Amino acid sequence: MLIDTESLENTFFDIHCHTMNLSHPSLYAFLKRFLKIPHNPVFAMAGGAVIGGTVGLLAPFFGGGIGRKFLNHLSIMERNVSRILMAMEDDFPNPISIGEKEFKGLTIAPLLMDFWADEEAEKIYYPFTPKSIIPQILDVLNGIADYANTVRGVEYDECIKEFSEVSKWGRQIGAKKQWRLDLRRLTTSNRDSILDKYGPKKRKLMALPFLGLNTRYCYLKTKKRKSHESTDLPLLLEKYFVGNANEPYTGTLEGLSGKFGCFQGNLRKIGGDYFLGIKVYPPLGFDPWPENEKDELEKVEHLYSFCEENQIPIVSHCSDGGFKVGDPQAAVERSHPKKWSSVLHKYGKLRLNIAHFGGQNSGLRYTESWWNMPYRKLMFGGDPEWAAVIIELMKGYGNVYSDISYSGVNDKYYHSFLEIIEKNYEIENKVLFGSDFTINLLSINSYRKYIENFLNTKHLSDSLKIKLCNTNPRNFLFNK
Ligand SMILES: [Zn+2]
Repeated sequence: MLIDTESLENTFFDIHCHTMNLSHPSLYAFLKRFLKIPHNPVFAMAGGAVIGGTVGLLAPFFGGGIGRKFLNHLSIMERNVSRILMAMEDDFPNPISIGEKEFKGLTIAPLLMDFWADEEAEKIYYPFTPKSIIPQILDVLNGIADYANTVRGVEYDECIKEFSEVSKWGRQIGAKKQWRLDLRRLTTSNRDSILDKYGPKKRKLMALPFLGLNTRYCYLKTKKRKSHESTDLPLLLEKYFVGNANEPYTGTLEGLSGKFGCFQGNLRKIGGDYFLGIKVYPPLGFDPWPENEKDELEKVEHLYSFCEENQIPIVSHCSDGGFKVGDPQAAVERSHPKKWSSVLHKYGKLRLNIAHFGGQNSGLRYTESWWNMPYRKLMFGGDPEWAAVIIELMKGYGNVYSDISYSGVNDKYYHSFLEIIEKNYEIENKVLFGSDFTINLLSINSYRKYIENFLNTKHLSDSLKIKLCNTNPRNFLFNK
């Protein structure tokens, strides 16, 4: 068994990745930022042409490298979720080992994002309408179930050899015409024993998602309960994180892995343990501590008291970059980690991952010299002051963690990361490995390369690596 719930110590955790495809984000809301002069469609079109023309003119200066990265990223993001997961399964080092230690399987946490955006209605023929997260939830849960129940490659050959009667369900799929068998279609009487031998538990990768949530587009008090399943905040939290009599939420690896591959397409019928926790994303409008907005504050407080009481893990995007909509400066202010110090002041037991650990430049406080100071502000990718706030929060609160997703695209990052840990040894049990795949494809070629960078970096000791990818994520997710 590759996914062994009894031996958590043999699982490599990637706590921060994404399996979204191009249909999920609200590109309208995102691109509007770059197409100012919005009320006149002629100007807007001219704006689009200017951006397009500029990109076209600049392209030769980048030597095609950026273009290829972008195409590589699009090639992944245009797939459905099961194909993204298959690409990940086909592309991580196997076995994954650190020193003497060998990991038997990989557990990833795809983070869903609520892309609902509040945009002015423009004078265009088809005016903007907000985008619900429901199709994304369906895509991700269906994609996970599809991936979990699909037998391919060597396993397909073995399965057909052992149970020749199932070959009639085999299909050749994809550009490579790979033979695949969807175990959910089988009607043979020995279906259970086939599932036992070749089913979801045999996949090398297990995906346990986080639900994207933006309280700004939820109701706290509504008379129309049950008709607003996706936006009634208490109902939404109860549905997935209390569950029902058939499917209670346990929040344990055993409970969650038991649901891996079980989704059958009907959201109304499911209960707990389909999501590991909740993902919030300040650049899309969520404000962790909206102290001047009474109604909104009431909603986030409901979220925090529920999550604190039930020990539901929360992941918050926390970097000055990302998918911003609306005013970009306001998006950065909402993302600042000091917002979380106000939250934690009142909800000190909240189980929280403040993602990205201040970004790629977070270590510069310790490694920079006087001459590179001025460049820091000109570079993208993080801020040492943000990292300093996150470090204080990790030291001050037992359940606060931070992942280093995306930053590992560059091996130099691990050098500055080590400097931080050496000067703040108390937090070495609070930092988490994450990839930020598929977003990290903007800076690196493949999932495999990102994981290999981490496994092979000379800057970190084996014991620190094991803490990042195993001990610490287990504590964050399951040691409640
Ligand atoms: Zn991310």
